Amino acid sequence: MTSKVKGRHSKAIHGGLDSAAHQGAVSVPIYQTSTFAFPSAEEGAARFAGTSQGPIYTRLGNPTIAALEECVARLEGGCGAIGTATGMAAVSTVFLALLKQGDHVVGTHPLYGPSRGLLEKYFSRLGVTSTFVAAADSTALAAAIRPETKMVYVETPANPNLDLVDLAAAAGAAHQAGVPLVVDNTFAGPHLQRPFEYGADVVLHSLTKSLNGHTDVVAGIVVAREPELLVALTTVARSFGFTMDPHQAWLVLRGIRTLGMRVERAQANAQALAAWLESHPAVEWVRFPGLASHPQYELAKRQMDGPGSVIAFELRGGVEAGRRLMNSVKVITLAVSLGGIESLIEHPASMTHSTVPREEQLRQGITPGLVRLAVGCEDLVDLRDDLDQALALVETALPSTAR
Ligand SMILES: *Cc1c(COP(=O)(O)O)cnc(C)c1O
Repeated sequence: MTSKVKGRHSKAIHGGLDSAAHQGAVSVPIYQTSTFAFPSAEEGAARFAGTSQGPIYTRLGNPTIAALEECVARLEGGCGAIGTATGMAAVSTVFLALLKQGDHVVGTHPLYGPSRGLLEKYFSRLGVTSTFVAAADSTALAAAIRPETKMVYVETPANPNLDLVDLAAAAGAAHQAGVPLVVDNTFAGPHLQRPFEYGADVVLHSLTKSLNGHTDVVAGIVVAREPELLVALTTVARSFGFTMDPHQAWLVLRGIRTLGMRVERAQANAQALAAWLESHPAVEWVRFPGLASHPQYELAKRQMDGPGSVIAFELRGGVEAGRRLMNSVKVITLAVSLGGIESLIEHPASMTHSTVPREEQLRQGITPGLVRLAVGCEDLVDLRDDLDQALALVETALPSTAR
Protein backbone atom coordinates (compact mmCIF):
# COMPACT_ATOMS: atom_id res chain seq x y z
CA MET A 1 0.00 0.00 0.00
CA THR A 2 2.68 2.48 0.97
CA SER A 3 4.39 2.07 -2.41
CA LYS A 4 1.38 3.78 -4.04
CA VAL A 5 1.73 7.18 -2.38
CA LYS A 6 2.58 9.96 -4.85
CA GLY A 7 3.09 13.13 -2.81
CA ARG A 8 6.39 14.25 -1.38
CA HIS A 9 5.09 14.56 2.18
CA SER A 10 3.39 11.14 1.96
CA LYS A 11 6.57 9.48 0.69
CA ALA A 12 8.56 10.97 3.57
CA ILE A 13 5.99 9.71 6.07
CA HIS A 14 5.28 6.25 4.63
CA GLY A 15 8.27 5.44 2.42
CA GLY A 16 10.25 2.44 3.60
CA LEU A 17 7.75 1.26 6.20
CA ASP A 18 6.20 -2.16 5.70
CA SER A 19 4.28 -2.57 8.99
CA ALA A 20 3.15 -6.10 8.13
CA ALA A 21 6.78 -7.24 8.08
CA HIS A 22 7.33 -5.84 11.60
CA GLN A 23 4.39 -7.14 13.72
CA GLY A 24 2.31 -4.13 12.68
CA ALA A 25 4.82 -1.60 14.04
CA VAL A 26 3.96 1.90 12.75
CA SER A 27 7.51 3.10 13.38
CA VAL A 28 10.26 0.87 11.95
CA PRO A 29 11.86 -1.10 14.83
CA ILE A 30 15.59 -0.72 15.53
CA TYR A 31 17.26 -4.03 14.73
CA GLN A 32 20.12 -3.47 17.16
CA THR A 33 22.05 -6.59 16.28
CA SER A 34 25.35 -7.21 14.54
CA THR A 35 24.43 -10.61 13.10
CA PHE A 36 21.36 -12.67 12.15
CA ALA A 37 20.73 -16.37 12.88
CA PHE A 38 20.15 -18.60 9.84
CA PRO A 39 17.29 -21.11 10.09
CA SER A 40 19.51 -23.73 8.41
CA ALA A 41 22.99 -24.16 6.94
CA GLU A 42 21.39 -24.34 3.49
CA GLU A 43 19.61 -21.01 4.01
CA GLY A 44 22.84 -19.39 5.28
CA ALA A 45 24.63 -20.56 2.14
CA ALA A 46 21.76 -19.28 -0.04
CA ARG A 47 21.93 -15.83 1.56
CA PHE A 48 25.66 -15.63 0.91
CA ALA A 49 25.10 -16.82 -2.66
CA GLY A 50 22.46 -14.10 -3.12
CA THR A 51 19.74 -16.58 -4.07
CA SER A 52 17.85 -15.81 -0.81
CA GLN A 53 17.33 -12.24 0.41
CA GLY A 54 17.35 -12.54 4.23
CA PRO A 55 19.78 -10.59 6.43
CA ILE A 56 23.30 -11.91 7.19
CA TYR A 57 25.38 -9.40 9.14
CA THR A 58 24.74 -5.68 9.77
CA ARG A 59 27.68 -4.38 7.72
CA LEU A 60 26.09 -6.20 4.76
CA GLY A 61 22.53 -5.04 5.47
CA ASN A 62 20.00 -4.60 8.28
CA PRO A 63 16.18 -4.14 8.13
CA THR A 64 16.23 -0.72 9.85
CA ILE A 65 18.90 0.58 7.48
CA ALA A 66 17.04 -0.98 4.53
CA ALA A 67 13.89 0.96 5.50
CA LEU A 68 15.85 4.23 5.39
CA GLU A 69 17.46 3.29 2.07
CA GLU A 70 14.07 2.55 0.53
CA CYS A 71 12.58 5.77 1.88
CA VAL A 72 15.31 8.01 0.44
CA ALA A 73 15.41 6.07 -2.86
CA ARG A 74 11.67 6.74 -3.25
CA LEU A 75 11.98 10.40 -2.35
CA GLU A 76 14.70 10.83 -4.99
CA GLY A 77 13.09 8.53 -7.56
CA GLY A 78 16.07 6.13 -7.75
CA CYS A 79 16.09 2.32 -7.95
CA GLY A 80 17.73 1.88 -4.54
CA ALA A 81 20.25 3.30 -2.10
CA ILE A 82 23.10 2.43 0.25
CA GLY A 83 23.27 4.11 3.66
CA THR A 84 26.69 5.27 4.90
CA ALA A 85 28.20 6.30 8.24
CA THR A 86 28.66 9.95 7.18
CA GLY A 87 28.15 12.16 4.15
CA MET A 88 31.89 11.88 3.44
CA ALA A 89 31.57 8.08 3.46
CA ALA A 90 28.90 8.51 0.76
CA VAL A 91 31.26 10.71 -1.29
CA SER A 92 34.11 8.18 -0.79
CA THR A 93 31.83 5.33 -1.87
CA VAL A 94 31.02 7.09 -5.14
CA PHE A 95 34.64 8.01 -5.92
CA LEU A 96 35.94 4.51 -5.17
CA ALA A 97 33.17 2.86 -7.17
CA LEU A 98 33.53 5.05 -10.27
CA LEU A 99 37.25 5.92 -10.48
CA LYS A 100 40.47 4.06 -11.14
CA GLN A 101 44.08 4.95 -11.97
CA GLY A 102 44.36 7.18 -15.04
CA ASP A 103 40.80 8.52 -14.81
CA HIS A 104 39.85 12.18 -14.84
CA VAL A 105 36.99 13.94 -13.04
CA VAL A 106 35.20 17.13 -14.03
CA GLY A 107 33.76 18.88 -10.99
CA THR A 108 32.19 22.26 -10.32
CA HIS A 109 33.35 24.95 -7.89
CA PRO A 110 32.72 25.87 -5.21
CA LEU A 111 32.31 22.34 -3.88
CA TYR A 112 32.00 21.04 -0.34
CA GLY A 113 35.64 21.46 0.79
CA PRO A 114 36.39 17.89 1.93
CA SER A 115 34.86 16.41 -1.26
CA ARG A 116 37.26 18.38 -3.44
CA GLY A 117 40.00 17.59 -0.91
CA LEU A 118 39.46 13.84 -1.42
CA LEU A 119 40.13 14.25 -5.13
CA GLU A 120 43.06 16.66 -4.85
CA LYS A 121 44.83 15.15 -1.83
CA TYR A 122 44.05 11.43 -1.93
CA PHE A 123 42.73 10.34 -5.32
CA SER A 124 45.56 12.32 -6.96
CA ARG A 125 47.97 9.91 -5.21
CA LEU A 126 46.13 7.05 -6.90
CA GLY A 127 46.61 8.59 -10.35
CA VAL A 128 43.21 10.30 -10.68
CA THR A 129 43.24 13.88 -12.00
CA SER A 130 40.50 16.47 -11.72
CA THR A 131 39.41 19.76 -13.28
CA PHE A 132 36.99 22.19 -11.63
CA VAL A 133 34.85 24.71 -13.51
CA ALA A 134 32.49 27.42 -12.21
CA ALA A 135 29.13 25.96 -11.16
CA ALA A 136 27.14 28.42 -13.26
CA ASP A 137 29.18 27.82 -16.45
CA SER A 138 27.61 24.91 -18.40
CA THR A 139 29.79 25.63 -21.44
CA ALA A 140 33.01 25.32 -19.43
CA LEU A 141 31.76 22.06 -17.91
CA ALA A 142 31.16 20.49 -21.33
CA ALA A 143 34.53 21.79 -22.59
CA ALA A 144 36.44 20.29 -19.63
CA ILE A 145 35.39 16.72 -20.46
CA ARG A 146 38.25 14.69 -21.96
CA PRO A 147 38.49 11.17 -23.35
CA GLU A 148 39.74 9.91 -19.94
CA THR A 149 36.96 11.68 -17.97
CA LYS A 150 34.96 9.07 -16.04
CA MET A 151 32.72 11.17 -13.81
CA VAL A 152 31.03 14.58 -13.73
CA TYR A 153 30.51 15.65 -10.12
CA VAL A 154 28.35 18.65 -9.16
CA GLU A 155 26.64 20.35 -6.23
CA THR A 156 23.70 22.71 -6.70
CA PRO A 157 23.05 25.14 -5.09
CA ALA A 158 26.80 25.45 -4.56
CA ASN A 159 28.14 25.99 -1.08
CA PRO A 160 28.58 28.77 0.01
CA ASN A 161 28.02 31.19 -2.90
CA LEU A 162 24.67 29.65 -3.97
CA ASP A 163 25.49 29.52 -7.68
CA LEU A 164 23.42 26.91 -9.48
CA VAL A 165 24.44 24.13 -11.85
CA ASP A 166 22.03 23.59 -14.74
CA LEU A 167 21.43 19.88 -14.13
CA ALA A 168 19.88 19.10 -17.52
CA ALA A 169 22.85 20.72 -19.30
CA ALA A 170 25.36 18.89 -17.05
CA ALA A 171 23.62 15.55 -17.69
CA GLY A 172 23.58 16.25 -21.42
CA ALA A 173 27.32 16.97 -21.49
CA ALA A 174 28.17 13.93 -19.31
CA HIS A 175 26.00 11.54 -21.33
CA GLN A 176 27.33 12.84 -24.63
CA ALA A 177 30.72 11.62 -23.39
CA GLY A 178 29.22 8.41 -21.97
CA VAL A 179 30.05 9.21 -18.34
CA PRO A 180 27.77 9.35 -15.29
CA LEU A 181 26.57 12.59 -13.68
CA VAL A 182 26.85 12.49 -9.87
CA VAL A 183 24.96 15.12 -7.87
CA ASP A 184 25.53 15.92 -4.20
CA ASN A 185 21.93 16.95 -3.43
CA THR A 186 22.54 17.76 0.25
CA PHE A 187 21.79 21.48 -0.02
CA ALA A 188 18.37 21.35 -1.67
CA GLY A 189 17.31 17.84 -0.61
CA PRO A 190 14.68 15.72 -2.41
CA HIS A 191 11.75 17.81 -1.22
CA LEU A 192 12.97 20.71 -3.37
CA GLN A 193 15.11 19.13 -6.11
CA ARG A 194 15.28 15.64 -7.61
CA PRO A 195 18.32 15.39 -9.90
CA PHE A 196 17.23 12.07 -11.48
CA GLU A 197 14.44 14.03 -13.19
CA TYR A 198 17.17 15.94 -15.06
CA GLY A 199 19.24 12.91 -16.00
CA ALA A 200 21.58 12.38 -13.02
CA ASP A 201 22.88 8.83 -12.57
CA VAL A 202 23.89 8.96 -8.91
CA VAL A 203 22.59 11.25 -6.15
CA LEU A 204 24.25 11.45 -2.75
CA HIS A 205 23.44 13.15 0.53
CA SER A 206 24.89 14.10 3.82
CA LEU A 207 21.85 12.96 5.84
CA THR A 208 23.39 15.05 8.64
CA LYS A 209 21.69 18.08 7.08
CA SER A 210 18.01 18.56 6.16
CA LEU A 211 17.01 14.90 5.82
CA ASN A 212 17.72 14.18 9.48
CA GLY A 213 17.14 17.83 10.25
CA HIS A 214 17.61 17.77 14.02
CA THR A 215 21.37 18.42 14.30
CA ASP A 216 21.91 15.24 16.33
CA VAL A 217 23.25 12.66 13.84
CA VAL A 218 25.95 12.40 11.16
CA ALA A 219 25.08 10.03 8.30
CA GLY A 220 25.05 9.76 4.51
CA ILE A 221 23.46 7.91 1.62
CA VAL A 222 24.08 7.19 -2.06
CA VAL A 223 21.11 6.66 -4.40
CA ALA A 224 21.43 5.12 -7.88
CA ARG A 225 19.14 5.42 -10.86
CA GLU A 226 20.01 1.99 -12.31
CA PRO A 227 20.55 -1.37 -10.57
CA GLU A 228 23.96 -1.94 -12.17
CA LEU A 229 25.45 1.15 -10.54
CA LEU A 230 23.67 0.39 -7.27
CA VAL A 231 25.42 -2.99 -7.08
CA ALA A 232 28.83 -1.39 -7.70
CA LEU A 233 28.22 1.31 -5.06
CA THR A 234 26.83 -1.14 -2.49
CA THR A 235 29.79 -3.49 -2.92
CA VAL A 236 32.28 -0.67 -2.29
CA ALA A 237 30.43 0.66 0.78
CA ARG A 238 30.20 -2.81 2.33
CA SER A 239 33.77 -3.80 1.46
CA PHE A 240 35.38 -0.63 2.80
CA GLY A 241 33.09 -0.63 5.84
CA PHE A 242 31.43 2.72 5.07
CA THR A 243 27.98 1.41 6.02
CA MET A 244 25.81 2.83 8.80
CA ASP A 245 24.49 1.68 12.14
CA PRO A 246 20.81 0.72 12.73
CA HIS A 247 20.24 3.23 15.51
CA GLN A 248 21.65 6.02 13.33
CA ALA A 249 19.36 4.89 10.48
CA TRP A 250 16.31 4.95 12.76
CA LEU A 251 17.05 8.48 13.98
CA VAL A 252 17.34 9.70 10.37
CA LEU A 253 14.10 7.92 9.39
CA ARG A 254 12.40 9.66 12.28
CA GLY A 255 13.73 13.01 11.09
CA ILE A 256 12.64 12.40 7.49
CA ARG A 257 9.00 11.98 8.49
CA THR A 258 8.73 15.76 8.95
CA LEU A 259 11.08 16.67 6.07
CA GLY A 260 8.57 18.60 3.96
CA MET A 261 7.14 20.57 6.86
CA ARG A 262 10.54 21.59 8.15
CA VAL A 263 11.93 22.44 4.72
CA GLU A 264 8.91 24.55 3.76
CA ARG A 265 8.87 26.45 7.04
CA ALA A 266 12.61 27.15 7.01
CA GLN A 267 12.36 28.21 3.38
CA ALA A 268 9.52 30.67 4.12
CA ASN A 269 11.64 32.17 6.92
CA ALA A 270 14.65 32.37 4.59
CA GLN A 271 12.68 34.04 1.80
CA ALA A 272 11.45 36.74 4.20
CA LEU A 273 14.87 37.24 5.82
CA ALA A 274 16.68 37.40 2.46
CA ALA A 275 14.34 40.18 1.26
CA TRP A 276 14.69 42.01 4.57
CA LEU A 277 18.49 41.75 4.53
CA GLU A 278 18.61 42.96 0.93
CA SER A 279 16.90 46.21 1.93
CA HIS A 280 18.98 46.72 5.10
CA PRO A 281 21.44 49.63 4.90
CA ALA A 282 24.26 47.67 6.58
CA VAL A 283 24.12 44.92 3.96
CA GLU A 284 26.25 45.16 0.80
CA TRP A 285 24.70 42.26 -1.11
CA VAL A 286 22.54 39.15 -0.60
CA ARG A 287 22.65 35.95 -2.64
CA PHE A 288 19.58 33.72 -2.38
CA PRO A 289 17.99 31.70 -5.24
CA GLY A 290 14.52 32.98 -4.25
CA LEU A 291 15.42 36.64 -4.89
CA ALA A 292 15.03 38.15 -8.36
CA SER A 293 18.56 39.58 -7.86
CA HIS A 294 20.04 36.04 -8.07
CA PRO A 295 21.66 35.78 -11.54
CA GLN A 296 20.11 32.33 -12.04
CA TYR A 297 16.68 33.12 -10.59
CA GLU A 298 14.92 31.65 -13.66
CA LEU A 299 16.93 28.42 -13.49
CA ALA A 300 16.10 28.11 -9.76
CA LYS A 301 12.39 28.35 -10.56
CA ARG A 302 12.68 25.76 -13.32
CA GLN A 303 14.90 23.22 -11.60
CA MET A 304 13.87 23.52 -7.95
CA ASP A 305 10.53 23.39 -6.13
CA GLY A 306 11.77 26.21 -3.92
CA PRO A 307 14.97 28.15 -3.21
CA GLY A 308 15.84 26.39 0.06
CA SER A 309 16.89 28.03 3.29
CA VAL A 310 20.57 29.00 3.00
CA ILE A 311 21.40 32.68 2.46
CA ALA A 312 24.82 34.15 1.64
CA PHE A 313 25.39 37.85 2.27
CA GLU A 314 28.11 40.39 2.90
CA LEU A 315 27.96 43.41 5.15
CA ARG A 316 29.13 46.83 4.00
CA GLY A 317 31.79 46.73 6.69
CA GLY A 318 33.29 43.55 5.19
CA VAL A 319 35.06 40.89 7.29
CA GLU A 320 35.19 42.90 10.53
CA ALA A 321 31.48 43.69 10.38
CA GLY A 322 30.65 40.06 9.60
CA ARG A 323 32.69 38.89 12.57
CA ARG A 324 30.92 41.35 14.85
CA LEU A 325 27.54 40.19 13.55
CA MET A 326 28.38 36.54 14.23
CA ASN A 327 29.56 37.44 17.74
CA SER A 328 26.39 39.43 18.43
CA VAL A 329 23.57 37.07 17.46
CA LYS A 330 21.72 35.51 20.39
CA VAL A 331 18.98 33.31 18.86
CA ILE A 332 20.96 32.25 15.80
CA THR A 333 23.81 29.89 16.71
CA LEU A 334 27.40 30.41 15.54
CA ALA A 335 28.13 26.94 14.13
CA VAL A 336 28.80 25.17 10.84
CA SER A 337 26.26 22.79 9.23
CA LEU A 338 22.82 23.55 7.78
CA GLY A 339 19.37 22.09 7.24
CA GLY A 340 18.56 21.75 10.94
CA ILE A 341 15.52 23.11 12.76
CA GLU A 342 17.69 25.79 14.42
CA SER A 343 19.30 28.67 12.52
CA LEU A 344 23.10 28.58 12.20
CA ILE A 345 25.49 31.29 11.04
CA GLU A 346 29.13 30.86 9.97
CA HIS A 347 32.04 32.47 8.11
CA PRO A 348 33.07 30.23 5.15
CA ALA A 349 36.45 31.90 4.45
CA SER A 350 37.77 31.10 7.96
CA MET A 351 35.64 28.04 8.77
CA THR A 352 34.03 25.60 6.27
CA HIS A 353 36.20 26.70 3.35
CA SER A 354 39.38 27.68 5.24
CA THR A 355 41.43 24.93 3.54
CA VAL A 356 40.79 26.57 0.14
CA PRO A 357 43.74 28.94 -0.61
CA ARG A 358 42.81 32.65 -0.53
CA GLU A 359 43.18 33.24 -4.28
CA GLU A 360 41.14 30.17 -5.04
CA GLN A 361 38.48 31.33 -2.54
CA LEU A 362 38.13 34.60 -4.47
CA ARG A 363 37.92 32.77 -7.79
CA GLN A 364 35.10 30.68 -6.32
CA GLY A 365 33.17 33.70 -5.04
CA ILE A 366 34.04 33.01 -1.39
CA THR A 367 34.79 36.63 -0.52
CA PRO A 368 36.40 37.44 2.86
CA GLY A 369 33.20 39.12 4.09
CA LEU A 370 30.74 36.44 2.98
CA VAL A 371 28.51 35.23 5.82
CA ARG A 372 26.44 32.05 5.44
CA LEU A 373 23.13 31.89 7.24
CA ALA A 374 21.37 28.51 7.34
CA VAL A 375 17.83 29.45 8.33
CA GLY A 376 15.84 27.15 10.61
CA CYS A 377 12.24 26.78 11.79
CA GLU A 378 12.09 29.36 14.59
CA ASP A 379 9.47 32.14 14.45
CA LEU A 380 10.43 34.71 11.84
CA VAL A 381 10.02 37.59 14.29
CA ASP A 382 12.70 36.15 16.59
CA LEU A 383 15.19 35.64 13.76
CA ARG A 384 14.60 39.10 12.30
CA ASP A 385 14.81 40.79 15.72
CA ASP A 386 18.02 38.91 16.42
CA LEU A 387 19.65 40.02 13.16
CA ASP A 388 18.29 43.53 13.68
CA GLN A 389 19.89 43.97 17.12
CA ALA A 390 23.16 42.42 15.88
CA LEU A 391 23.24 44.68 12.78
CA ALA A 392 22.61 47.73 14.99
CA LEU A 393 25.71 46.81 17.02
CA VAL A 394 27.70 46.35 13.81
CA GLU A 395 26.66 49.77 12.53
CA THR A 396 27.65 51.63 15.69
CA ALA A 397 31.07 49.97 15.57
CA LEU A 398 31.81 50.83 11.95
CA PRO A 399 33.99 53.80 10.99
CA SER A 400 31.78 56.45 9.37
CA THR A 401 33.38 55.90 5.92
CA ALA A 402 32.04 52.35 5.82
CA ARG A 403 28.54 53.31 6.86
C1 LIG B 1 27.95 18.27 5.16
C2 LIG B 1 28.15 17.99 3.74
C3 LIG B 1 28.88 16.85 3.30
C4 LIG B 1 29.58 15.91 4.26
O1 LIG B 1 28.71 15.26 5.12
P1 LIG B 1 29.13 14.70 6.57
O2 LIG B 1 27.87 14.07 7.04
O3 LIG B 1 29.57 15.87 7.40
O4 LIG B 1 30.24 13.74 6.37
C5 LIG B 1 28.98 16.63 1.94
N1 LIG B 1 28.42 17.47 1.04
C6 LIG B 1 27.73 18.57 1.42
C7 LIG B 1 27.15 19.46 0.38
C8 LIG B 1 27.57 18.87 2.77
O5 LIG B 1 26.90 19.97 3.13
